[in-house]
Amino acid sequence: MAKILLVEDEEKLARFVELELTHEGYQVDKAFDGRIGLDMAENGGYDLILLDIMLPGLNGLEVLRRLRRSSHTPVIMLTARDAVMDKVTGLDTGADDYVTKPFSIEELLARIRVALRRGEGEGNAGTHLGCGDLTMDVARRRVERGGHEIELTGREFALLQYFLENKTFVLTREQLLERVWGYEYMGETNVVDVYVRYLRNKIDEAFDKKLLHTVRGVGYVLREEA
Ligand code: CA
Repeated sequence: MAKILLVEDEEKLARFVELELTHEGYQVDKAFDGRIGLDMAENGGYDLILLDIMLPGLNGLEVLRRLRRSSHTPVIMLTARDAVMDKVTGLDTGADDYVTKPFSIEELLARIRVALRRGEGEGNAGTHLGCGDLTMDVARRRVERGGHEIELTGREFALLQYFLENKTFVLTREQLLERVWGYEYMGETNVVDVYVRYLRNKIDEAFDKKLLHTVRGVGYVLREEA
């Protein structure tokens, strides 16, 4: 049974989420204050942390920053609508995902399942993803193609990981922007094209068989062509 820490100062919301998660079979502890939440997160042996941003004591981003010095426990940020900066900062600080308030419980449960799966993989031998002769060791943050290590920035790594997790599926720019950058779609997707170009230069440029393909008018897909 997975153990989840919920750090949220809106008591009504916290109680509701606790009830729903308990109903799903999770063990849930609550903290209403950032400082207490951080202490519990560091010492409680949790499998996952749900972390609000606006908190008394210590705000959620600061809790996350301090927690990441010593812990890789998956963290899902609970963010207010329109707080794009919070999401970006959260993901850059090491959050695994975010959910925008108000969220449906189904959406939260889905994100929790994904984050827990990812966490499990890292706890064991580490998640290995691959496509053709390209391999990614997620826990060690190592990418190789044809036996040669490829250096990627944090964002390039996150982008490639998302492509690998959704291998052979065509992904739209909007999807990539939301899942890799944490932005909601606001009509601006150039950043995706720019990063896909960076990534291509590193993983495909030196090889005959290209892995990252443009699907005209739709988006991109990572797959091995026959
Ligand atoms: Ca709050």
